Amino acid sequence: MPSLQQLHFFTTVNDLRSLPQTVAEVAFAGRSNAGKSSAINTLARHTRLAFTSKTPGRTQHINYFEVSDNRFVVDLPGYGYAQVPTAVRRHWEVLLSQYLQTRETLRGLVVIMDSRHPLKELDWQMLDWFAVTGKPIHILLTKYDKLTKLEAAKQLAMVKAAVEDRPMISVQLFSSLKKLGVDEAEKQILSWLYD
Ligand code: GDP
Repeated sequence: MPSLQQLHFFTTVNDLRSLPQTVAEVAFAGRSNAGKSSAINTLARHTRLAFTSKTPGRTQHINYFEVSDNRFVVDLPGYGYAQVPTAVRRHWEVLLSQYLQTRETLRGLVVIMDSRHPLKELDWQMLDWFAVTGKPIHILLTKYDKLTKLEAAKQLAMVKAAVEDRPMISVQLFSSLKKLGVDEAEKQILSWLYD
């Protein structure tokens, strides 16, 4: 049985021409600071596989992590930095939208959102860019250890209601700190990669 514990660094690319040949891949996207790197590390049961870059100018990389047999988890550049120059933002928009819409081996998209502040404008933009492909999206509402049980249940219900008319989108709660929701997320990702 494949496991995300097998995840290992493969390569970093800066433009779409340099993407490696793959059999299947699942991409991770999210606002900067939403908890994307932590989620990847948690799923890999590894402390420092994916790194956060807090410098907007250095956010254009796409990192490939292999599970096995040419099947990959892809760490996309974070979005929503406050002071990002227009040129960097444009580059990001072209890179991300083209990758999401043209990458044939991409099987599904995981979008990381802070459970306290989900569905910001740029999150919707990601959901919309990918919706045209008809491929599935799984939303991880992370850091839910920061909420009470009731608040977490409310946020989950609110996001589910907001995407109710989009059957390709599924949603779950996740916590890297408390290691909650890990099996559910891993199962989804592995089924996209191996089924
Ligand atoms: P990224 O920019 O999306 O890659 O975000 P990071 O993974 O670097 O996380 C941003 C901040 O949120 C860091 O200070 C993390 O320690 C914190 N963080 C990430 N996930 C969790 C979580 O599940 N629970 C809590 N309490 N903090 C988290």
